[in-house]
Amino acid sequence: MTVVASVRGWHWAVGAIVAPLVIPGSMEGQAPCCLAEGLAVAGQYQVAGLEDRRFNHEIYWAAMAPALVSDRVRIIQVGESTEGRAINAVTYGTGSTSVLLWSQMHGNESTASMALADLVNFFATADTSALASLLADRLTVTMIPMLNPDGAERFIRENALGIDVNRDARILVTPEGQLLKRVRDSLQADFGFNLHDQGSRTAGDDGLLVAIALLAPAADEERSWGPVRLKARKVAAVIAGALEPEIPGRMARYDDSYATRAFGDRMQQWGTSTVLIESGALADDPQKQRLRAINVAVLLSALYAIAQDSLDQVSDLAYERLPMNRAIANDLLLLGGKIVLGNSKPIRADIAIVFDDAVAGTGPRYGEVGDLAEAVAMDTVDVTGLYLHPYLEDGFLRRGAPVVLRVRREADPESEEVWRIGEVITDR
Ligand SMILES: [Zn+2]
Repeated sequence: MTVVASVRGWHWAVGAIVAPLVIPGSMEGQAPCCLAEGLAVAGQYQVAGLEDRRFNHEIYWAAMAPALVSDRVRIIQVGESTEGRAINAVTYGTGSTSVLLWSQMHGNESTASMALADLVNFFATADTSALASLLADRLTVTMIPMLNPDGAERFIRENALGIDVNRDARILVTPEGQLLKRVRDSLQADFGFNLHDQGSRTAGDDGLLVAIALLAPAADEERSWGPVRLKARKVAAVIAGALEPEIPGRMARYDDSYATRAFGDRMQQWGTSTVLIESGALADDPQKQRLRAINVAVLLSALYAIAQDSLDQVSDLAYERLPMNRAIANDLLLLGGKIVLGNSKPIRADIAIVFDDAVAGTGPRYGEVGDLAEAVAMDTVDVTGLYLHPYLEDGFLRRGAPVVLRVRREADPESEEVWRIGEVITDR
């Protein structure tokens, strides 16, 4: 039995396209800015207490509290959620270029909230960083982490009204959406970062699991390249170029069809050059802690390029060359086996399996069963010549039922077990 294809498997691809940027002053001549430095910052300034990606508003702001006493960052409440939770903005720097970052407008998408906590901690406490000083001089960075605290409380996408805040940019009926628009308008933000997590079952059209997807959203149906969107594409290219050596082949481009209700598209229209960053998944990163560090590094890289006013020198290619994001239906595919059901003759059939939590790989359920030769899954296992023994409550293999399965050498249920998935729940 062998894994014949794995979207999760590692793959080495072409190198970075954007020329390395160098930090001035003490950092000159060192590693390109800011991937290596950003990853170091992520390690050194990681805020404790956010190791589990399911945290609520209370845990989040308690974890950040020690950093917020610093007078280098300013925290103000900019509004409250439907259920009355405080929504805060943390600002750093006094420069002339205004940058607005917001995270977790979808309550179950917390990776960038963790990264913003680490960034705030870095800005608040780093004493000798040339990068932090440069950003403070040239930028005013406003961060609104956890824009949807009511959704975060329940780890669901929508707010307490059941509204997807990222589909509220046109009519602006949610308090969360209204305040985001109000903050943007008051800042007249030059740049925006719309920070999300995408489905972890997403691959590039090159067939590899996507860790980071990027988009310079369209500002109109024609998807035209006006000056605001062009700048956003440069920022996306900086990120793609910086990140390529760290996660080669693991980035993709999000579909750029104009989404009239979405904030990224509207921000672009309102004059804020906005980049969507979607954190997907990486193998062996169930709590997205590596993706958290990667978010810190890419945001610092992007902020640095903006602060340097060097976007004009960036090639768009690193962004344009990214494969397109593509959803994958199945987590696991068992191909070529024979299913043994009770005393009937073994049946040659493939089995697709979908996990309740695809990132953690827990809660396996049956997907499609039968001839799945063309199906695509995160992992495909060849079980040709082997026998699949499902344990079923009522003897009926039903789509959506929990998977408890033993792969054995023979049709005999006592024969050697070569692989297993799911645990048998015994009566007691
Ligand atoms: Zn989202």
